[in-house]
Amino acid sequence: MSSTPRRAPKAGIHPDPSKSWLRRAWPLLRAHRTLLATSLTLSFAGLIVQVQIPNLVRIGIDRALVAHTAGLAGYVWLIAGLAVAQGVINYLARLYLLRTAYELEYDLRTIVFGHFMRMSYGFYDRVQSGELMSRATSDIRAVQMYLTFGPSILVQCLIAVIAFALMVAVNPLLAVVSMLTMPAIAVLGVRMRKAIFPVSWLIQSRLAGIATVVDENIQGVRIVKAFAAEQRQIDTLAGAADRVRWAYTTDARIRSRWIPVMDNMPRLGLALVLLVGGLMVLNGHATVGTVVAFNSYVLMLQPPFRMLGMIIMMGQRAAASSQRIYEILDTPAEIVEPAAPVAPSPEGDLLFRDVRFAYPDGTLALDGLNLHIRPGETVALVGATGAGKSTVGRLAARFYDVSAGSVELDGVDVRDYPLATLRDRVGIVPDEPFLFSVSLHDNIAFGRPEATREQVIAAARAAGADGFIHELASGYDTVVGERGYTLSGGQRQRVAIARALLVNPPVLILDDATSAVDVRVEHEIHESLRDLMRHRTTIVVAHRLATINLADRVLLIDGGRVVADGTHASLLATEPRYARVLAASGESAAAGESAAAGEKEPVA
Ligand code: ADP
Repeated sequence: MSSTPRRAPKAGIHPDPSKSWLRRAWPLLRAHRTLLATSLTLSFAGLIVQVQIPNLVRIGIDRALVAHTAGLAGYVWLIAGLAVAQGVINYLARLYLLRTAYELEYDLRTIVFGHFMRMSYGFYDRVQSGELMSRATSDIRAVQMYLTFGPSILVQCLIAVIAFALMVAVNPLLAVVSMLTMPAIAVLGVRMRKAIFPVSWLIQSRLAGIATVVDENIQGVRIVKAFAAEQRQIDTLAGAADRVRWAYTTDARIRSRWIPVMDNMPRLGLALVLLVGGLMVLNGHATVGTVVAFNSYVLMLQPPFRMLGMIIMMGQRAAASSQRIYEILDTPAEIVEPAAPVAPSPEGDLLFRDVRFAYPDGTLALDGLNLHIRPGETVALVGATGAGKSTVGRLAARFYDVSAGSVELDGVDVRDYPLATLRDRVGIVPDEPFLFSVSLHDNIAFGRPEATREQVIAAARAAGADGFIHELASGYDTVVGERGYTLSGGQRQRVAIARALLVNPPVLILDDATSAVDVRVEHEIHESLRDLMRHRTTIVVAHRLATINLADRVLLIDGGRVVADGTHASLLATEPRYARVLAASGESAAAGESAAAGEKEPVA
């Protein structure tokens, strides 16, 4: 991991959604105005030098070659010198322009990613991750390109005005003739871009489609192989590849139709200048040097006119992209810091008071849940799939806010805690833990990056992970695959438990955290957890009797509320629903140590 301090974005996007997209991006441009102004000034200077060259050619030809009033060498050196100067200036202009572009892109990226990080669970329930990826990459690129290259192209167009003024001073009629083809080029350029633009969008989205197919099939290659679906997936990819081919071919067809026309416009311009200029030379109204110089101007002035079409399209694209970016930035985070945060001393007393909770899509998950867990107590939540067990943990850590009622930790509503403090105090181990592509050490130390190796090892020991990590060739420095693929599901769960234990939270929620661990290992984990749970409030979402046996108390959850509360034995004796849930999990309803029954994966 790098420890270089990173700079924060220099400015933000204007928060008022009623403003135009450019107005909203303005603070960002302003923040980099020195860089941008430097690059534009340099490119302007380069162009000023450039327009002098044909003029010098004209004077050189007329004086040195036609009238013989001056030597040739002086002009040659002067032109060569200007060419070198223009090269240096253009180099600097380009460098500054690209620096501006990447500084802007950096800011946009950090602003958007910062917002992603602030968004709550509910947001991620609603949006597709692929969509977010494209907003964070291609949309940002489109906005950046327009903000930096747009002004630069405008500067180039400005130079056409200056060159035209120079030409008018020399020969007004020929100046007008030289410019005759420019409007045609501008119009053709716009039309060509209009024709190409939809196809280039299509290419982009189809390339994204291919990337998705490749990505999914590589991530899911084990499933593909398990179902011997290789050929079908190859066909799927071939279909996507074919759609890209079609889009590219259409693009090529449009381009090959337009580009020769565009390329021939300068030649038409040259012919016109030669015709009118030549006649004027023959009649003594112009010099040969003028005709040669105007030829150069015709060639020099075409590119900015050609680019007008491009900049218009870039502008439309940037407007659309910026709207998509703003849409995200304008989505407020649902879970926010309290205005007046409080954090009492941590005890681990957790109280759910008449909690009602529906997910953002409207699914009612908890419906009048009452629950009090005292410091140091261990309770097991037992219930059928969808009963609301996992939701209890998510509300305790305030991943979502309750719809009604309240959740209190140590007598204070969780909504009144500073978020970081609350999440330090409520540790959650999910049933499908996510590992980052970093070392096992860094994965375990995720919540406490400053932890020493000894602390990491102690946490891993408690989670039953030290044994297998120790056997790996690189031990704690082993980097795990994208989703920790090199580890088994049970090993990943143990790493995740270690990660939670290292933070040492007063409330620990194990959401089916040992479901992928075999019964023998689970037993080992429970042995070490037993010690750790003694001083800690612990909630285990449990399907196996072995896990249930860890608990002082069992709560039966059904339909989003607690329907029975007692010891395993008392529930078994008095609550037929409890026995049914255990039976559905593949557990024999017989009480006691349960290893034999726990072999199968639970159903629920
Ligand atoms: P359990 O852990 O007991 O299986 P959950 O707490 O996961 O149950 O889910 C309770 C209810 O909420 C179920 O109906 C489930 O489908 C729904 N649910 C869970 N997570 C989400 C979510 N992210 N978005 C919408 N509904 C959800």
